[in-house]
Amino acid sequence: MAIKLIEPATEAVLDSVEETSAAELDRIIDRAHTAQRAWAAESPQYRAGVLAAIAAAVDAETETLARMESRNVGMPIGDARGAVGGAAATFRYYSAAPERLLGQTIPVAGGVDMTFLEPIGVVGLITPWNFPLSIASWKVAPALAAGNAVVLKPSELTPLTSLELARIATDAGLPEGLLNVVNGTGTTIGRQLVDHPGIGKIAFTGSTAVGKDIARRAADTIKRVTLELGGKSAAIIFADADLDAAAEGLAGGVFGNAGQDCCARSRVLVQRNVLDDFLERLEKVVTGIAVGDPLDEATEMGPLISATQRDRVSDYLGDAPVLFQGTAPSGPGYWFAPTVLHPIEDAHRAAREEIFGPVVSVLVFDNEEEALHRANDTAYGLAGSVWTTDAARSMRVARGLQAGALAVNSYSSVRITTPFGGFKQSGLGRELGPDALAAYTEVKNVFFSTGG
Ligand code: NAD
Repeated sequence: MAIKLIEPATEAVLDSVEETSAAELDRIIDRAHTAQRAWAAESPQYRAGVLAAIAAAVDAETETLARMESRNVGMPIGDARGAVGGAAATFRYYSAAPERLLGQTIPVAGGVDMTFLEPIGVVGLITPWNFPLSIASWKVAPALAAGNAVVLKPSELTPLTSLELARIATDAGLPEGLLNVVNGTGTTIGRQLVDHPGIGKIAFTGSTAVGKDIARRAADTIKRVTLELGGKSAAIIFADADLDAAAEGLAGGVFGNAGQDCCARSRVLVQRNVLDDFLERLEKVVTGIAVGDPLDEATEMGPLISATQRDRVSDYLGDAPVLFQGTAPSGPGYWFAPTVLHPIEDAHRAAREEIFGPVVSVLVFDNEEEALHRANDTAYGLAGSVWTTDAARSMRVARGLQAGALAVNSYSSVRITTPFGGFKQSGLGRELGPDALAAYTEVKNVFFSTGG
């Protein structure tokens, strides 16, 4: 069956892809096992060279990939180029890994003890629609670097750049059968992948609800699981902060990718005595965001991914206090104006649940202890920001926040070289940096008797 892909900025059919059947998935996994054994047997230098060639090939196809991502996701073209550059950089970073998968020698009695970092085998990668190429590269690159083969299931809404990545990688010299992309919905091919006995691990990025389903189902075959899930992250803005930077940064910190960002700081806690100053600045930022055609170089925010997502986001505004909104085009396209909610209670569902749209709740606090307590009062724990010029306070608050990806005087969340992941119901395990390699390997311990 063909799956139609809709361009969110126009609501027109962009392309279509063929759904993968269960029988095809079996064949793909079989072939992947054969390819994986050959790949793991190759020299580390060879595997490093292939990954470096993929990095260069992704860079060389920046414009094609960026336009594809921009049209399929609705992502502004400038951001899409950044995403392609990031994907290439991820392959480049992990191209150093095959030659650095170091084990240990451990002092023991009667012999020599060594550890080896072995590939898991064939791993299943399941990705969401908000940053398809970026998130695919965060999983594919370390998985291949560690000697695995992969079966990648992108979101049924945005598979194009994942399919293109597989083509580019094969043309760059990646042996057949190592990077397989399958198409379909979560409840069909997604679940078949999670249940399949030939898959050794699932690396998932998506909603917390689906993450729970995957963790439950993976238990049947004791699959390794890493989960990158939802968030409702806080930015805490103290009275001594650079308010201009804190407000201007929110254009990316919560409205970037139209708020469809798991790290969006969608709860902004502002110290009471600077609330009015902050809101004044924020209004200028929000009303100045250029919302429109993702392929226009001047666009800063595109549409939401689908009509369903637009309805979901609209629903949150039903009983929420809208203080001000920016602009959005009318006509075809899943547009939604950047929106600020205030005054709003912490308990309001718009201030507690992940909206995944361009909506931010502004909350007010009086002191540090209170701000920390309220920022942590959530089931999530993905990202967060602290804005202050008091260095000691920034340390105290950053250490006190229960979240995995924190920034001080910044909304930055992701760097390829550093660990990324969530506390509490925002996830399990870490991606990127050296930690991702550990997530795609098994530790093997071997004791060599010396006969003593
Ligand atoms: P989703 O959970 O609906 O779907 C994600 C992927 O899982 C898709 O490929 C989907 O087809 C598949 N899927 C759905 N149900 C499945 C099932 N039962 N079994 C196996 N696979 C299944 O998420 P989404 O709507 O595509 O993306 C938005 C969510 O992703 C948000 O909650 C967001 O916070 C989260 N997200 C998290 C991160 C992170 O790194 N923490 C990054 C991006 C997005």
